[in-house]
Amino acid sequence: MKSDAHVHILTNKQPTLYENYILDHEIGSIIGIYDNYSDVIQIKSPNCTIYKFFWMHEVSLQPDPIPDGLKFESWIDNIAINENILLPALIFASKYGLPLLIHCNQLRPDLSRPSFVADIAKQYKDLKFIIAHSGSYAPPLPEELAGLKIMEKLVFEAINACTCLDNVFIESSILASPRKRKLILDNIDKIEDRLLLGTDFPFTVNDLVESRFSLEHDYSPTISSEEAFLVHDGLDLKKLEKIHSNLRKIF
Ligand SMILES: [Zn+2]
Repeated sequence: MKSDAHVHILTNKQPTLYENYILDHEIGSIIGIYDNYSDVIQIKSPNCTIYKFFWMHEVSLQPDPIPDGLKFESWIDNIAINENILLPALIFASKYGLPLLIHCNQLRPDLSRPSFVADIAKQYKDLKFIIAHSGSYAPPLPEELAGLKIMEKLVFEAINACTCLDNVFIESSILASPRKRKLILDNIDKIEDRLLLGTDFPFTVNDLVESRFSLEHDYSPTISSEEAFLVHDGLDLKKLEKIHSNLRKIF
C-alpha cells in the first residue's frame, strides 16, 4: 500500500476530498496535519490509517486529545527551530513519545533548516524528527525565487542529518523541482530507509505562495504524481514500494 506523509486536513475542505484521494490513489496510511481534531475524525477511511499531527502554531500549546505527532511551520508561524524556543513542545512530545514534523524551506533558512533539526535530534534521541519537503520547499518558481543554491545546500543538510542520526527522516514533498529530485535520487542508497513520500495535498503551489509572490504556475501534487516524478527519473519500482513502508517506522 502507498503512504503519504504530508497531507493537510483543512477545515474548509469536505471529508470526501480526502476519502476520494485515499481511495483513488490506494493509500494505506497518511500523516494528516490538522488544526481542528473534529475535521480529522469526520474522514471515513476504513482501509487507511490516519496519523494525526497537530499543527503547533505556538510552541506552548497542549493539544487535547493527544495527537500522534506535532508539526511546526516556521515560515508561516515565525517559529525558530532551536532547542530553547521549542522546549515546551519538546517536553510535551517526550512525555507522549510524539514524532515531530518540521517544515524547512529556502525562504527562511535563518529560522528553520535541516541542520537546526539535526542539532535538536542529537539531544532528543528518543524522539523521531521528520524534515519536511526534503529540507527545502522548492516549487518550480523562477530561478531567483527558487534560490537553487540554498535549496541544494538545504537538501544536502537533510540527507546528512539522516545519514548521521537514526532518529531523523526526510519527507520528500514537493518533487516538481528536477534539481531536488536529482539530489534525492543521487543519494537514494543512503536515505532509502529514511525517506517518506509526501505531497502537501491538497495545497497547490499557488495556495502556498500566492500571498507573497504572484505566479501564473499552478500545480497540485498527489502521491501518484510524486511517484511518477521519481520513477520517470529512474527510481526502481521495488525500492518505491519499500519507501512507502518507511512510514511505519515512525510509530
Ligand atoms: Zn505542508
